[in-house]
Amino acid sequence: MRTAPTILHLDMDAFFASAEQASKPSLRGKAVIVGGLGPRGVVSTCSYEARVFGVHSAMPMAQARRLAPNAAYLVPRFGLYRQISEQVMGLLRELSPLVEPLSLDEAFVDLEAGETAWDEASALLAARKLRDDIRAVTGLTGSVGLAACKMLAKIASEQAKPDGLVLIEPGTERALLAPMSVRILPGVGPATGDHLRRGGISTVGEIAEAGEDELVRLLGKAHGLALYAMALARDERPVVAERDTKSVSVEDTYDVDIHDRVRVRMEVQRLADRCVQRLRGAHLSGRTIVLKVRRYDFSTLTRSETLRGPTDDPAVVREAAARLLEAVDTTGGVRLLGVGVTGLADYTQEDLFAQARAAAAGVEEGASGERVEEAQVGGGAGAGAGAVDVVESAGGEPAERVWWAGHDVRHVEFGHGWVQGSGLGRVTVRFETPGSGPGRVKTFRVDDPLLESAEPLPLVEPLPAGPAAPGEG
Ligand SMILES: [Mg+2]
Repeated sequence: MRTAPTILHLDMDAFFASAEQASKPSLRGKAVIVGGLGPRGVVSTCSYEARVFGVHSAMPMAQARRLAPNAAYLVPRFGLYRQISEQVMGLLRELSPLVEPLSLDEAFVDLEAGETAWDEASALLAARKLRDDIRAVTGLTGSVGLAACKMLAKIASEQAKPDGLVLIEPGTERALLAPMSVRILPGVGPATGDHLRRGGISTVGEIAEAGEDELVRLLGKAHGLALYAMALARDERPVVAERDTKSVSVEDTYDVDIHDRVRVRMEVQRLADRCVQRLRGAHLSGRTIVLKVRRYDFSTLTRSETLRGPTDDPAVVREAAARLLEAVDTTGGVRLLGVGVTGLADYTQEDLFAQARAAAAGVEEGASGERVEEAQVGGGAGAGAGAVDVVESAGGEPAERVWWAGHDVRHVEFGHGWVQGSGLGRVTVRFETPGSGPGRVKTFRVDDPLLESAEPLPLVEPLPAGPAAPGEG
């Protein structure tokens, strides 16, 4: 194990809820709960103000409403969160090529591998600068832990919350862990925790005292040995970068379903380009192009096409993704699109267009709602989450118009705002932006022609220098 605290763990503070508070000035300092508002919805994230009432993530939404009836209840805006996540992960990749994301807002970074830090002083310097940069670029705060291994870096960032930095000095790990609950160790869930407690072990120190043989007797060889090592703060797990994964993919969840086929095609092209950028960034190429489509009803399917050789050519990936899309019915709307490349290699073949033409298509049908947490979160359509009415879309087909609580709207006269609530044929909108003061509330008919869905505004005004990325905006 290394002797310097050069493994960094970053965890953004109450990420979704903080992004909502930064977007909506009237919610700053208030209890904010983000999650699925339908009958089976659960809390994704809640603000620190909501935690005071006992609300926590993964709690059923109905229970949260009983505990904090006056909180603001919002449907997640994954498109916005993903944009912020990409900014944060970009800052982490400036520190090291070894960045291991655990979720949209959490990652390990090996500072030593990036030659960013080699001892306590340089690690602290890098961590302080990272926290400043995150705040400047995203407007949000993240907590950072530094330690000589992953397990302790994660414990440190938990101790640092909110908006803090904690370094665990190598050599002090065992003393720090000893009084903590066994549940703090990776791999100890409620069942293992109960099992250990029945064996007379409830703290990490008691695992160390019990000894290796007793742990093996209680939990079996593999789990027992692993847990005993963790209790002695022996954690040799390396930080595993994205390039070591078996596929490279990008996907976007849209805050408002896309109905327009032309727009769907454009989005797929944009995703293909982003995917290739990421592929090239990792010095990889791949043989199989994968398109993922989640439709308005949460049915999710993937289509794939395998080339004769690996490619990192944007034109080839774009063409393949476009071909795959042609076989997918998107009438009714699309809420998520993704493009990925698998079958990775670290070289490319020269005759890219020939292989594209010779491509053999493969098809597989994905299970509906494969990413359960996202499916649950948005899944409350028409069940109190938003009012629904039917309007004619540009193509002459009826399209559902759903006013999701918390989502962005624009009114011809009053400008940008967000849906505060809806029902009984009315929608209430608060007109405010990240840079404004708390805004005023107005109520409209749900079919008001002057009111339309809008894209989220950035939390921090981008610097005026440099042209905007094509297709973004
Ligand atoms: Mg977090």
